[in-house]
Amino acid sequence: MKLLMMGPPGAGKGTQAKKIVDEYQLANISTGEMFRDSYRKKESLGLLAMEFIRDGHLVSDEITIEIVRRRLFANHVEKNFLLDGFPRTIAQAEALEEMLDVTGSKLDAVIQIVVSDAVILNRMVGRRSCSICGATYHIDYKPPHQDGVCDSCGGVLYQREDDKHESVKNRLDIYKEKTKPLIDYYESRGILFEVNGEKSFDAVYQAIKALLDERL
Ligand SMILES: [Zn+2]
Repeated sequence: MKLLMMGPPGAGKGTQAKKIVDEYQLANISTGEMFRDSYRKKESLGLLAMEFIRDGHLVSDEITIEIVRRRLFANHVEKNFLLDGFPRTIAQAEALEEMLDVTGSKLDAVIQIVVSDAVILNRMVGRRSCSICGATYHIDYKPPHQDGVCDSCGGVLYQREDDKHESVKNRLDIYKEKTKPLIDYYESRGILFEVNGEKSFDAVYQAIKALLDERL
């Protein structure tokens, strides 16, 4: 099974992906992790990638595609995997299609976790973080026992810049603009499946599982 999961920031994609990887014994292919790993080994690809990341840019298509190609085909051909953070552009999606084509295979499913902006804003803007230990709370869903104080260490809780309304809204807009072409791309290939991400973690997981089991 070859999967790709997509979803806006705050949709719970990471935690769902982790569970899917365990359940179906998939290799978790994360470009972010591969860039860091390659950088630690002082490989030229990793060093180049880190330059983009340090400057706050997306790593170029060329470098990203090459690192994925090595991961998928270098030692043995990976048959079952879930992609994380790749593809991000149409050029990357086309390169992936070509790579898989060579082995006579293709992506089985692209799962898109759909959550409205309003729900994501509510989830993220209500978050509070401990200034000392980093523990996270939510003013409605996981409030501390005492307002503004961390349960585990007594530290002061604050709202991270990332969690402020403008910042979240901005990231959501960028996400939508960047992923729209990819969503159209996979929809036109008939492998895009939407899952309602506004339900509980378990309900979302069961929906993804039902979808995958139907296609296996
Ligand atoms: Zn704390």
